[in-house]
Amino acid sequence: METNPCNNGVNDGSSIPSRVSRKTRQDDTIVTINGVRVGSSEIVVIAGPCSVESREQLFETARSVRTGGAKILRGGAFKPRSSPYSFQGLGEEGLKLLGLIRGETGLPVVTEVMDTRQVELVASYADMLQIGSRNMQNYPLLKEAGMCRKPILLKRGMMATIEEFLLAAEYILNQGNDQVILCERGIRTFETSTRNTLDLSAVPMLKRLTHLPVIVDPSHGTGLRWMVPAMAKAAVAVGADGLIMEVHYKPEEALCDGHQSLNLNEFTQLMLDLQKIARAVGRDICLPEYVHA
Ligand code: PEP
Ligand code: MN
Repeated sequence: METNPCNNGVNDGSSIPSRVSRKTRQDDTIVTINGVRVGSSEIVVIAGPCSVESREQLFETARSVRTGGAKILRGGAFKPRSSPYSFQGLGEEGLKLLGLIRGETGLPVVTEVMDTRQVELVASYADMLQIGSRNMQNYPLLKEAGMCRKPILLKRGMMATIEEFLLAAEYILNQGNDQVILCERGIRTFETSTRNTLDLSAVPMLKRLTHLPVIVDPSHGTGLRWMVPAMAKAAVAVGADGLIMEVHYKPEEALCDGHQSLNLNEFTQLMLDLQKIARAVGRDICLPEYVHA
């Protein structure tokens, strides 16, 4: 008789799919992005602009977040914008800039892939592929990502339950790629004072249900620059393995999400505060030696 892969063949009422489940693998999975390990006791911070806008914007921001202690650089080249008239990203030109600054700074890069037809191209430049909230249930894209041999950053759909989120990750693992990081980025609720409602309870829940690393995006999770530090600190306190945050060298001039992007000084200060929280909960954030409180 065939066993149901959605419950490990065990009829215990669990609807957590098997490959992502803690029952299948008790130890935490460590995802390695070009040498940077996510899921260990060290908390990893991913930072950079919402979108790659220009050489100067990307390079200045990247150099600064590296100095501040970021271990991975983010930056969208293909942007999922609500309006077709908004800046859609630089496309391959943006990927090339990411490749260049990776060479200079040594920071691995993560960037979004929106379409199955882009997977090969994006994977040829990026160290990790991001599947965005709007595509969390794009099953052909999840399968394609599962066939690609790069780590995947999977963001929670803005209307997705924890179970649906884990089923989406299962699609990727099912194709043989177990290098998946889950990202809580806020869900849609009746609340309108924040862009999304950052569901920090998802962190301990996911850590209990799955062995995959869990990170938090307080930028999209709040939509408010001033609230990002508080929620970033809270995310570390509840057990997140990392953070992804939007940082821009001139947030007021950003073509996308400037209102929720930290400036360079705010980011550097936040990293120092996060290190204290991390140490208080038995983790650490390794900062470059020249960064002092
Ligand atoms: C992003 O990280 O740039 C992004 C678009 O995020 P999300 O998919 O969570 O909206
Ligand atoms: Mn953004």
